[in-house]
This record gives sequence, C-alpha cells and structure tokens, in this order.
Amino acid sequence: MLDSRKYISVFDDMKVVKGIARTAIYDLAQGNIFFVPGIVGEVLLEKKERTLGAILTELPEEEREWLLDIITCLAEERIIHQVDGRELERFTPSKETLFSSGLIYNAVIELSGESRFLDELEEIIIEMCRLQCRYVALVVRQSIGNHKIASILQQIVRTDIQEFEVIWDCYDASRKTIEACLASEKNRAVIIPVSLPNKKLKEEAFAQERVYLSEGAFILDEEVMAAEIRNFFTVNKPFFYEAKNANPYFFKKVSIDRSGNIKNCLSQNFSYGNILDGSLEAILSGHSFQELWYVNKEKVRGCRDCEFRFACFDMRPPRKMGHDTWEYSTSCGYDVVQGQWTR
Ligand code: SF4
Repeated sequence: MLDSRKYISVFDDMKVVKGIARTAIYDLAQGNIFFVPGIVGEVLLEKKERTLGAILTELPEEEREWLLDIITCLAEERIIHQVDGRELERFTPSKETLFSSGLIYNAVIELSGESRFLDELEEIIIEMCRLQCRYVALVVRQSIGNHKIASILQQIVRTDIQEFEVIWDCYDASRKTIEACLASEKNRAVIIPVSLPNKKLKEEAFAQERVYLSEGAFILDEEVMAAEIRNFFTVNKPFFYEAKNANPYFFKKVSIDRSGNIKNCLSQNFSYGNILDGSLEAILSGHSFQELWYVNKEKVRGCRDCEFRFACFDMRPPRKMGHDTWEYSTSCGYDVVQGQWTR
C-alpha cells in the first residue's frame, strides 16, 4: 500500500532513461528493460524530492488514478520503493563513473598472407600486453597457413592476454587449428564461414561450444551493422556505466588492418599510422585516436533522445558534425519520436 506522505525512490539497480516517446527502466541486475509513459519517467527522475501526495495533487484529477496504478505496479515489481524524509537524506546514489586502467583493452588484428607485419606480430602482441590489452580478436582474411596461425596462438597464450577470438573470413580453417583454439582456456570464440566447403569439418566444429558460423565478410557494411543493432542491446552494470561515459564499442579499442594501418575499427578508411612505422603507444595516446572513445550516444543526433541509448551496442563509426556533435550516415531503423521500429 502506497503512503502519500512518503517519497518515491528507484532501486539502485534500476536506471530510468527518458526518451521522447516513452521512458525505459533498465533492470541492470536481471538484464531487462521495462517501458513506462514519459510522465512516469518525469516523476521518477524530476520529482524525487516531492512526496507522492504532493506529486498527485499537482496532476489533473483524471490522471491521478492512472499514475497511482502505474506507481503501485512499479512498487509490486520491486522497481521502486518508498522512503521517508530521513531515508531520502541518507541515500547516496552510486556514482556512474567509469574506471578503467591501461591504455587499451581490446585489439582487432586483421591477417592475410600479404601482411608485412606477420613476422613482427609477436613483438606487437607483447607491446599490446604492456599497454594492458586484455582481449585480442584475429580476423583471418586470406590464407596465412595453419602453421602460422598455430604459432600466433601459442604466442598469445603465453602472454597476459586474457581472452582471444579467431574469426576466419576465408576457407583456411583446419581441424587442427580449430582444435588448437578450443584447447586454450583463453579462447572465447571461434568463428568459421557458413560457406566453408569442407562440410564435415564445419558440422564437427559447429557442434562444439564456442564455435559459431558467420555469413563471412566480418561486418564491415554499415547498413548491415545498423540493421543488427536491435539484436545486440546489452543491459548490465558495466555496459551501462561505459555507455554513460564513453562509446562501448570504441572505448580502449585498436584495430590493425591487414596492411598494418592503425585504426579505431577495420571499417574506417583512414588510419592514424602504420604499426611498422610509428610507436603504437604514441598513436594510441593521441587525442585524435581517442576522440571516438568518448562519443557516447548523448553526443549523437537522434540517439541522444532515444531510451535505448545506454543499452545500444553500435559498431558504426559516427561522423563529426560540429563541436562534440556527431551523427550516423545510416539509420538503425528506430523512430525515437514514435517509439517504434520502422523495419
Ligand atoms: S536511435 Fe541510436 S541509441 Fe536508439 S537504437 Fe538507434 S542507434 Fe541505438
């Protein structure tokens, strides 16, 4: 039973995110999103210092019962609870800041038989570890020989890299190398092309945990990435805090293309330098390289008014339109004004 003399407080694991069309409540502990009308979002965010009774008296009579029903429902679902004045004073919400040590966390390395840096790869990986990189994805675009891949994996396993992933975007995967990946506890995933001609190998591999099939061409097309966004919403504490303060896809990430060009992601056309020419640390420390790291959705036109903005895992690089204002050249298909998907 709600008490009109008390205040409404949202549980700390529940985050209220206002959009234009509606308000979302993220349950960071359970990974769910609930939706409530915008006016309920306003009450939860902007009228925290008014008692329930005071909030209700400000509303037109016909809306009071309706709001009360929704607030009762939120209390029953343990999204909100009521507190008295003293409890309200004592309550300090958790800080939504981001703490992350090390210069980079994540590296994507594209490999092909023509990659001039293959012989330097061991030193490159050691340098990345020194900069505290903890996760490496190898994207094999063209046959570099299973022997070479096995030796790269051995190098990775010997370092402080905590997890690795191998993505074959060619038909070079052999039973032996797939097994070598899976044998390591550090392996997070092995991705093989759905069109791998060796059907038996594909079936055997796919039957194993951590092996996935891909359509190939490892997501470089922005239209494809945009269409996939709605399938990759992520609702949990680390993602929420990262999305509030940074760009969860680009933050502390480096990509090295098959020619050794250092980029934020493989789909970028320009590079910040070449791994064989310059110092990796100097490039990664530069403001221009890090600029995308901090482009969260609140800086992106259209997205800043979207209730999914702190759950949206978006691999598209945004374009700068003005001082700290960005936009995407493709649409994700979500109409933030109507609160509906258009495709
Ligand atoms: S509008 Fe922006 S934040 Fe919302 S779903 Fe689309 S890309 Fe994500």
